[in-house]
Amino acid sequence: MKALVLEKQHDLKIRDIDLPLVLGPDDVRIRIHTVGVCGSDVHYYTHGRIGHFIVDQPMVLGHEAAGTVIEVGSNVTHLAKGDRVCMEPGIPNPRSKASRLGLYNVDPSVVFWATPPVHGCLTPEVVHPAAFAYKLPDHVSFAEGALVEPFAIGMQAAVKARIKPGDVAVVIGAGTIGMMTALAALAGGASQVLVSDLMVEKLAIAQRYEGITAVNVREQSLQDKVAEATGGWGADVVFEASGSARAYGDALAAVCPGGALVLVGMPVEPVLFDVVAAQAKEIRIETVFRYANVYERAVNLIASGKVDLKPLISATFPFERGVEAFERAASAQPGDVKVQITFGDA
Ligand code: ZN
Repeated sequence: MKALVLEKQHDLKIRDIDLPLVLGPDDVRIRIHTVGVCGSDVHYYTHGRIGHFIVDQPMVLGHEAAGTVIEVGSNVTHLAKGDRVCMEPGIPNPRSKASRLGLYNVDPSVVFWATPPVHGCLTPEVVHPAAFAYKLPDHVSFAEGALVEPFAIGMQAAVKARIKPGDVAVVIGAGTIGMMTALAALAGGASQVLVSDLMVEKLAIAQRYEGITAVNVREQSLQDKVAEATGGWGADVVFEASGSARAYGDALAAVCPGGALVLVGMPVEPVLFDVVAAQAKEIRIETVFRYANVYERAVNLIASGKVDLKPLISATFPFERGVEAFERAASAQPGDVKVQITFGDA
């Protein structure tokens, strides 16, 4: 089977590799159509590691995928051959305590595509548990299907925020995850989302969405803009989606008394955090790690037209040019949100 293989840091190639493709009774075999390139895939390529996850043997990249079911296991009843699906890339142990509590995203034994040593899905065919494959309506494209994974993180953030209808939200960082969070917050009932960033190209994409106000923090203070939008009270929910250590001061200043601060971005190093500033407003702090139980609702929102992810697709490369797709993503062009790789008209 051909696959896009990360041999080691900075060494990526398309080559044949042996992958386990045995179909169990609860599995489906899927012909992959589209795979999004994620920041984590790029980070493994450029750094060879993320925290304690180290690429020390060849690994197939990719975890944001959509495709077509081509075979179903004997126990599978909710999917059939020919169904178009997107896949949740993390498979927990269904018997674990975390799974039983509904927190399967934090199951320590979760097996997640393209997280060492687990192979990802940048290969023409995968076998996946049917319980983690979700049918796409006919009018939802494979490209949108492959965006469900990053959108699911925004969904998880919006769920953890417990957004109420009419809330004013702030998203710090207009990267892919910031955009996904802003769109999920709007879909969850936020009346307005202020999205802040330093890059005009990213802010221009954010500003195209109704309900989003782009704030260029090179030119304006986020705190002033939030005060303007809320009569000086502060935002009901602040999502930190930049991963920048400097964002935490802004986040604490922007959130209203009794509001929620949702930590989505992942700083590379530990950050300084003003505990007393948080206490003085008695804010609620939530954290987000991947997602659990949001995929179906994410697909529903896309299918309904309430969430339009299509403007976030910046470039699409054929699988044969997959390495080029990674180079494009690694170059971090400020106007790029999502680069995708396609296996063609499957
Ligand atoms: Zn991802």
